[in-house]
Amino acid sequence: MRPDSRAVHAGRELRAREPLAPPIVQTAVHVFDDLDDYVEVSSGRAPGHVYGRNSNENTSMLAAAVAELEGAEAGVACASGMAAIHAAVLALAPRPAPIVVTADGYGVTLAMLRADLAPFGYEVREVDLHDLDGYARALPGAAAVVAETITNPLCRVTDLVDNTFASPVLCRPLSLGATLVMHSATKYIGGHSDLVAGVVVGAAEPVSRARERVVRMGGSLGPFEAWLALRGLRTLHLRMRRHSDNAFALAHGLAGLTEVTAVHYPLLEGSPWEALARRVLPDGAGGMLAIDLAGGRDAVQAMVSGLGLVRFAASLAGVETTISYPDITSHVSLSAEERLALGITPGTVRISTGLEDPQDLLEDFTRSISPRR
Ligand code: PLP
Repeated sequence: MRPDSRAVHAGRELRAREPLAPPIVQTAVHVFDDLDDYVEVSSGRAPGHVYGRNSNENTSMLAAAVAELEGAEAGVACASGMAAIHAAVLALAPRPAPIVVTADGYGVTLAMLRADLAPFGYEVREVDLHDLDGYARALPGAAAVVAETITNPLCRVTDLVDNTFASPVLCRPLSLGATLVMHSATKYIGGHSDLVAGVVVGAAEPVSRARERVVRMGGSLGPFEAWLALRGLRTLHLRMRRHSDNAFALAHGLAGLTEVTAVHYPLLEGSPWEALARRVLPDGAGGMLAIDLAGGRDAVQAMVSGLGLVRFAASLAGVETTISYPDITSHVSLSAEERLALGITPGTVRISTGLEDPQDLLEDFTRSISPRR
């Protein structure tokens, strides 16, 4: 099956008389008439489900679908992207050990490692992607390397890749050497800003360790969210193409505004990541970009107030274009100095490009950034 057909059919083999759309199995528990039968199912020797925190038809279907798209043997669905990262890190590093993390990734990932794992003895080694020697120096003895596909295209040396921004349509980190891949399915996989979910996929053994953590810590996903996420996944291939095209057009258009001092998009000509992105993301770099406004926070506030079609929202990857301000959202847990060191200035705005007509988007941004034009 080719990739586009896989997105439409992954995770499900329809038999005769089954409903074409998967039913939502909204139950916490299943019933049994026979003790041996219960043991067969609860031990995993026979297919089926016993209790919702362990597994459910919809969550298993979602995990199987994402695993198939990523080329993985197995997957587990989680209550959120953060639950997925947490379970995956602990699957790779079950006891205190050094963990390497790219410092310019999602702020809450860094905050989770610092606040929730470091107190138990984990050593968090934060690395700057631009400093490859420093990166290499941090690796010896590390139990896991945590990185993101778009902000860190160095998939080849990475154990745990957060593939949320690229999605399996644009990059399959397992084929580049990653051990585990996780997604915030809240984002492109769901795609419609109507659910919170996460998925971890990879080889059967580390995924089974991640699943045990999820089940024990109670980070399991509910059936309805899984159903919604799978419904979103069916159009992922179409959406990612349009997100990528729109972001590329917007990046070009915004680069022409004098108030915009920098446009950060991996495939933009002159980006420091362009050559790498062309290799790792040959089919497009997705819908996320960032711009720096010369006027700092005041200019960002004026822009937020001036936008019409585009709205401010602290998430991303929906069908609507939204903007976010990392200083108060994704990177609020870092100090102002840490943000500046990563290149996040008071004028940095993150844009999640949706599926609108790119000309409408460019007009809305231009009006709000350069009202006198
Ligand atoms: N990874 C990335 C790259 C994200 O942007 C986010 C959320 O914004 C997460 C992980 C966390 O996902 P969730 O909000 O589903 O827990």
